[in-house]
Amino acid sequence: MAKANYLVSLIVPVYNEEATIEIFVSTIKKKLSAELSHLEIVFVDDGSKDSSAALIEELIAAQSELKISLIKLSRNFGKEAAMTAALDIVNSDAVIPMDVDLQDPPELVLEFIRIWRDEGIDHVYGVRVDRSQDTEMKRMTSGGFYFVFNRLSNKVKIPANAGDFRLMDRKIVETVRLLHESNRFMKGLFAWPGFSSKGVPYQRPPRVAGNSKWNYWKLWNFALDGIVSFSSLPLRVWSYIGAGVGLLAFVYMCWIIIETMISGIDVPGYASTMCAVLFLGAVQLISIGILGEYLGRISEEAKHRPVYVAQQIKGDLAKRVPPGAQHTASGIYFMQDDNK
Ligand code: UDP
Ligand code: MG
Repeated sequence: MAKANYLVSLIVPVYNEEATIEIFVSTIKKKLSAELSHLEIVFVDDGSKDSSAALIEELIAAQSELKISLIKLSRNFGKEAAMTAALDIVNSDAVIPMDVDLQDPPELVLEFIRIWRDEGIDHVYGVRVDRSQDTEMKRMTSGGFYFVFNRLSNKVKIPANAGDFRLMDRKIVETVRLLHESNRFMKGLFAWPGFSSKGVPYQRPPRVAGNSKWNYWKLWNFALDGIVSFSSLPLRVWSYIGAGVGLLAFVYMCWIIIETMISGIDVPGYASTMCAVLFLGAVQLISIGILGEYLGRISEEAKHRPVYVAQQIKGDLAKRVPPGAQHTASGIYFMQDDNK
């Protein structure tokens, strides 16, 4: 059953964007006129130093047919924190994170809403097909990142070339709220809840105005954040390397000893020194690995993520538990796929 009455929030983090805000709002009004009554824009001012916040306040005061709101942060926290604030605060049927620079094409919002509303898909994400706008270097590094991330993270996989631009049903938003870690790699967090999902290909245009706030150093740290928060393999791999080196060292040690016994001593002290160095090296690697095993588990625990997400409850139990989205001791359940 398709939804008739629904509200979708466009959540838009803004940092020093006075050049783009008005173009963004007028483009939304023009291109999404068919859905305007079902839409709201929630700007999050991420501690802008220019007149961004004042501009948004003017737009709110102007009262158009499009609902506009502002969440103003006390300082610059970064795009991830700004999106988190909006996800925690908005109360609508679905949210769509969007960049204010129109790099996320507004007409795609119609397609996202259609798939969510008519096909009942909970998570509709945009996939960039043509990255010809990016430099060769950027394409290579980002391709490498998705490859490494998806190999290392054994449960949560993120689709390659998907940004933050996507539609998420309320169920996903409620679940993402339960991911309490302060190191927020959003693409991973958005993929964590699961539910039905579908990718929609699109071409990413260049920024309409203003400048990008990203550079390679930030991107590198971003990639590290992502991998480290969704995999403890880099920490734990040392026990295996240690064991491997240990085994080789042991074989080599036996060989040196036998050789020394058969053909006598070439260089005095060589055999015993080699044996000690190899053996201790292996022992050290193994102990680092054991530390890694514990640290990996501690970092998992420290995140306080929910243990499970139950998508639906049916049968007699469904009559006996409270309806809607319910937070339980270590998870969350949804009574039913409500809007379908
Ligand atoms: N942004 C933010 N806080 C920051 C940096 C950026 O809220 O500290 C916002 C910015 O205003 C824009 C979005 O995040 O709406 C994407 O930023 P940008 O276009 O600079 O990134 P790019 O598209 O180059 O990756
Ligand atoms: Mg941009």
